[in-house]
Amino acid sequence: MKVLVINCGSSSLKYQLIDSQSEEVLAKGLCERIGIEGSSVTHQKAGEGKKTEAVLMKDHTDAVKVVIEKLTDPAEGVIASLKEIDAVGHRIVHGGEKFKGSVVIDDSVLEAIAECNDLAPLHNPANLIGINSCKEIMPDVPMVAVFDTAFHQTMPEKAFMYAVPYKYYEKFGVRKYGFHGTSHRYVSEKMADLMGRKKEELKLITCHIGNGSSITAVKGGKVIDTTMGLTPLGGFMMGTRSGSLDPSVITFIAEKEHLTPEEMSKILNKESGLLGISGVSSDDRDVCAAEADGNMRAHLAHEMLYYQIAKYIGSYYVALGGCDGIVFTAGIGENQPMLREKVCDYLECLGVKLDKEFNKQATCGVTGTLSTPDSAIRVELIATDEEMVIARDTRAIVEAL
Ligand code: ADP
Repeated sequence: MKVLVINCGSSSLKYQLIDSQSEEVLAKGLCERIGIEGSSVTHQKAGEGKKTEAVLMKDHTDAVKVVIEKLTDPAEGVIASLKEIDAVGHRIVHGGEKFKGSVVIDDSVLEAIAECNDLAPLHNPANLIGINSCKEIMPDVPMVAVFDTAFHQTMPEKAFMYAVPYKYYEKFGVRKYGFHGTSHRYVSEKMADLMGRKKEELKLITCHIGNGSSITAVKGGKVIDTTMGLTPLGGFMMGTRSGSLDPSVITFIAEKEHLTPEEMSKILNKESGLLGISGVSSDDRDVCAAEADGNMRAHLAHEMLYYQIAKYIGSYYVALGGCDGIVFTAGIGENQPMLREKVCDYLECLGVKLDKEFNKQATCGVTGTLSTPDSAIRVELIATDEEMVIARDTRAIVEAL
């Protein structure tokens, strides 16, 4: 069964065509800077090099069209026609409390996803556009939704409730949901495999550090706490998102600047985080370059980020009652050795010992154990593979139809 996996981010669209029996990735690619000047598509047919091409993509609908063109292109493509796509698996950011696992997409699922738009304004609308564009082009192909929130549905009430009047949970579902669940699920299961242990007996902390970032505490294979909250804005600072704050910061700034909730939300979602502090960029590569040039605000942005990550790991160590393994993953977690070194410096008090030489080399596809053999906690770099989880779930659900 050939599964097309679509992962629409805020300004990116990742795609993979996967043979779900052999788990072979036939082709994959990334549309970047969607809706931003300088958009491009990078396409890679299995066994061949990546090719990047500048293509104007004003929105995600344009991006889906570009993906289909690439997959069926006589030279760069891997299928003769759309008929070879047996199913589409979509990464959906917010499934609320309704979705505890993956589901086949029908009209009621589309409605339920749209009901969560308010909760993930940067993502769910883009995810829905991805689904609708695929439906337009492939109306008879079954589609499956795999939710970022689903893995976190095991959190106990004491972890997911906010101390605001209980009626807001009852009326509007105001609670912590958590995101990046597919990634945390993949790397926590992979970590158990690498450790040669059953997931049921492990206490793990998984750090997904990318444009959007979250950290999750996984006990016995089940999430007990995670940093992101009602929306992907919660937790620690990200590319453009503030992470959690003293709530008064929000009302204070809004009052001083006479801002509407929408304007305030835009500041917190799009103008904060690494971008807001450094004033340079939301992309960590740019912040690294500025810091190397002596930019003190870029340096401060990094110092804040490392400190916040370390504090969450410390608090999850307590929540879990110890920790067997820490995983770093995603764009920054996989590629920024300085972040891992600085975070692990803070964790020395927990007995973490980093192999600093290997850590420096572990970038651009190099993965492995970052800690020394005598470290009290094993620290691992695992490349996340949300697409493979989506392909596996899609195949299982479509085969059972
Ligand atoms: P998203 O949340 O959009 O999926 P990613 O996981 O792709 O984000 O992470 C994007 C972040 O990873 C960006 O800040 C980018 O700068 C960073 N990143 C990607 N590759 C590298 C690299 N080689 N070195 C440093 N940072 C990198």
